Amino acid sequence: MNQAIERMKRELSSMAAPLEGACLCGAVTYVCASVPVWSGHCHCRECQMLSGAPFVSAFSVEVRAFKVLGGVQQFRRRAASGGEVTTSHCAACGTRLFAQSTANPPLVSIFATTLRDPRIFRPVGNVYLSEAVAWVEPPAAIFNFQRMPPKAPEAIS
Ligand SMILES: [Zn+2]
Repeated sequence: MNQAIERMKRELSSMAAPLEGACLCGAVTYVCASVPVWSGHCHCRECQMLSGAPFVSAFSVEVRAFKVLGGVQQFRRRAASGGEVTTSHCAACGTRLFAQSTANPPLVSIFATTLRDPRIFRPVGNVYLSEAVAWVEPPAAIFNFQRMPPKAPEAIS
């Protein structure tokens, strides 16, 4: 397990800060001043519904290292844990940019495809494989969880 954690840390630190992204229309931009603490693909049913895709790829950073410029609107939903997840999307074009959970307030999860260069994304895990569709093979990852990992950033879903 320690070896896996070392590999994870190497992968995450290769996503060099600052990490910059934007919505489709450009009205909202963001920058992260630190490397992620987690990254991966969420296969939960809600991410499928919200994105129109079989899974959502995201990375988590500390809120204090994250800056947003521009107007976002928010959508709130109950999480399986009983907490609340708030997803923020561009008020103009609707692009979903990031999510936060009351279960883990210090972290924000950013949707990796909104990075200016999404090729730099390094996913380390799959979560909610129990809800994955049967018609896409989940990407290979260091960690694979049927639901959430213990003490992982809930906001990733
Ligand atoms: Zn926009």
